[in-house]
This record gives sequence, C-alpha cells and structure tokens, in this order.
Amino acid sequence: MRGWAVAALDLVFPARCPVCAAALGAGRRDPLCGVCWDGVVRIAPPFCARCGLPFFTFADIEDRHGFPGPVCASGDLGGHVGAPQFCSPCAVAPPAFDWARAAGLYAGPLRDAVQRFKFGRRPALARPLAALVLEQCAAAVPARAVLVPIPLARERERERGFNQAALVAERVARGLGAPLRERWLARTRATAPQTELDAVERRANVRGAFVASTAAAGADVVLVDDVLTTGATAGECARALRAAGAASVGLLTVARVL
Ligand SMILES: [Zn+2]
Ligand SMILES: [Zn+2]
Repeated sequence: MRGWAVAALDLVFPARCPVCAAALGAGRRDPLCGVCWDGVVRIAPPFCARCGLPFFTFADIEDRHGFPGPVCASGDLGGHVGAPQFCSPCAVAPPAFDWARAAGLYAGPLRDAVQRFKFGRRPALARPLAALVLEQCAAAVPARAVLVPIPLARERERERGFNQAALVAERVARGLGAPLRERWLARTRATAPQTELDAVERRANVRGAFVASTAAAGADVVLVDDVLTTGATAGECARALRAAGAASVGLLTVARVL
C-alpha cells in the first residue's frame, strides 16, 4: 500500500500491535509495537556451536524468571573462549544438520507473534520476524548460502493460505542477497502434526517424508523455519539434502523452544 493510503487508514483505524493491542508508537517494528519488539528474548553467545542451544548461567535464569534453560555443564565458559562448545546432546549424537541458529526464545512476545503469524492469519508479521533473524543470525550464514524453506504439509498450507517458513525465508534471502530455492525440498507423504508427539515419535513421524532435488548438489543449503523444537523435521530435511549431494546444511529459525 502506498504511504498516503497507510496514513489515511491510520487516521480511521489506528494501527494496533497484533500481540498486545497497544497503539503503535515509538520503536515500532511494524506491525509489532516497540515494547513487544524490545521484549523478545534474543539468543546471544554463549551457545552450542552445533545446534545453537543457549548456555545460561544461574544468574541469567534468576534474571529471566520464567525462562528456565539448560545450565552450562562446566559453569566455566569464560575459560574456554575460542574453543567451540557443544551441548551434551550434540556431543553424544549430533543432529543431521551442520549448524542451527535461532533469533530468540519461543517465549513471551515472540511466541505470541509467531502464533498470531501462523494461526491468526497475520502474514504481515513475516516482516519483523525476518528482520529479527537477520539481526541475530546473519553472521552465521555461509557466504554462498542458498535458502530453502521447510515445506509445510499440503493440507496445512491450504488451510492457512501460506507457508510461514517460506514467507520468512523470502525476506531473509532478500536481506542477505542470497538465492531462495523453494523447490529443492518437497514432502513425499502427509505427516501427522508434530505438536502432540514426543521427540522419538516426531522422528518416526517425519522419517523419509522429504525428498530433495539433485540441484542441491554441492550447495551450502540453509533451511528456514519458524520454530525449532526437537529438530526432527529439520534433521529429516537435512538428510534428504545430504542424499542429494548438498555440501552443508544449516538451519535458521525465528524462535527456539527450550
Ligand atoms: Zn505489542
Ligand atoms: Zn547442541
């Protein structure tokens, strides 16, 4: 919409934040208000070099009441600056993707924004959510990366009218100046929604559910999704891309569940 049309609409219907319904004012990241934007708990180092799991200290947890997270096992990260740190699950059984980074914790205003985006039919939220990914994660993306959104189950995309991962990927690709290849990954069959399943069931549910194009051979692929939960879906996509010859597979998500 043109600037004058937005201004005219603002006069009639003052713009409201889709998360907290406050009128949009200073610091806004349309359509999020400044308070919600600032309230996003961004993931910053130190985190697992493989999966991006943030390492919290006891002080962090006390500061953040309500965001309980894993505590660094050594409690002494300061002493190992420079050496890559891995969380214990990655040290024991690393995921099928080479690296993962999420912009923020799936909590508070970010969880609300992602839920409104997906279930409240607010595709306009792709803009600030992609901006958040660029702000927090651009440095992790390899120079010649090709972005590939994780495909949504066909029936869910039909219900929703859009694939949220594709909307975010499109904007992140534009921000990075990287190519976007939506057709490099496809679903081979329908899968049950992952929400009600535990980690083992999630892996079984998506096993063999994706196929990748051989066009991915030799590429540094970066998968894009909205939320990282157990990583089962992204892991399965990474396996398919590897089978098609991808040189590396990373994962960018807006948010991460702890
Ligand atoms: Zn708000
Ligand atoms: Zn890890």
